Amino acid sequence: MKSLVSHMREVLTASSILTVDDTMAGWQGRVGPHGGGKALPSSYFIRSKPTPHGAQIRNMACRETHIIFSLEIMERADDMAQKTYNKEFGNASAAQVVRLLENANCVGKGKMVVEDSAFGSVRTAIELAQRGSYFVGPVKNASKFYPKKKLQEERLGKGQWTQYKAEVGGKAMLALGYKRDQVETYIATTSSSVAVMDARNVDRAGKKMPYPEILQTYYSNHSAVDIFNHLLSSLNCDGFKTHSGTLRVFMTLVGVCLVNAYNCYRCDVELLKEDAEYESMRAFADPVIKKLLTNTIGAAPQPAAARARAAAGAAPAAAAVPARALAAGDRLRVFSRCEIVPYPRDQGKGLCEQCGRRTRFYCTDCSSTRPRSGRVIWLCGLETKGRRQCVRDHIVSRLKQGR
Ligand SMILES: [Zn+2]
Ligand SMILES: [Zn+2]
Repeated sequence: MKSLVSHMREVLTASSILTVDDTMAGWQGRVGPHGGGKALPSSYFIRSKPTPHGAQIRNMACRETHIIFSLEIMERADDMAQKTYNKEFGNASAAQVVRLLENANCVGKGKMVVEDSAFGSVRTAIELAQRGSYFVGPVKNASKFYPKKKLQEERLGKGQWTQYKAEVGGKAMLALGYKRDQVETYIATTSSSVAVMDARNVDRAGKKMPYPEILQTYYSNHSAVDIFNHLLSSLNCDGFKTHSGTLRVFMTLVGVCLVNAYNCYRCDVELLKEDAEYESMRAFADPVIKKLLTNTIGAAPQPAAARARAAAGAAPAAAAVPARALAAGDRLRVFSRCEIVPYPRDQGKGLCEQCGRRTRFYCTDCSSTRPRSGRVIWLCGLETKGRRQCVRDHIVSRLKQGR
């Protein structure tokens, strides 16, 4: 697990919006320390999931590419309590979000974390704000310090909302109550939320209704992990029958790697405007799985039997199992490590390399690291009005240069 997460941190660079959610590895067998050698150490039941029973894997994904950057398997409650920050924060889910963020190497980079249901709390928002990150999410059960009752008792008509502002450690927080059938409660690290209109919020007659900007941010960003899970379910890892709980979870982790690889591939195809060779997740996964099973990915060593035969001077078995890259279509690609973060000095601003507008974000990888003589490559962040594509254009131009 550790080496998987550290490898992800090495090869992937997250965009500025991250989402947190869970993935299930279905398991109906024995659980716990007394369940025998093959039992799963812990199991969870989540009614709303397609596979409600099993190991729960919490993950953080990039909103733009749906690639998972950071994950953690949920262990037994008393083991979870021993993890970093748990005692310090007194809030297990806040501690987990911060751990996920640290594992993804995203602390202090002005990332926005959008979460789905289990993590929203005042504590999560505060801890993220103190780590230079932003947070948007609904508050359900963990409503300590949150004016939940007050928001729910507000007399609101359908589609109306109300909000409370607070300042914690110099950071603005906003609590929002929005009435749909009941009052839904949200928290965000921001100072204001204006009304917006778009096709996401329509009444029965299909007429656009105004709604708060926070909700728009939430609606348009929270589903990256769901999209990931949808791709994962097409691999049907849960259909792999085994009596060993650890093997079951391992299979799902292999699935996670495959989906990540597919998402990277989709991202390349889209950025470089190439024709996609593999149309679906399955079509992409099949040749990779075949290569994995025969141990012939990249420059992997030949299976021991083939080596032995070659050593014995038999017909060169190596020719039958060529140690080369994946199937046709797998070229060695240049990849970009561009990461767009706010300029460290508060007042720092410059003109965007792509569109020439003023911005406080810059690319850490393309800017020269030498102070003073250094050249800063400024770029618009992802949350510009009208979603300008400056970051994407910058990355494409760098990929085309083949640096
Ligand atoms: Zn760059
Ligand atoms: Zn720009």
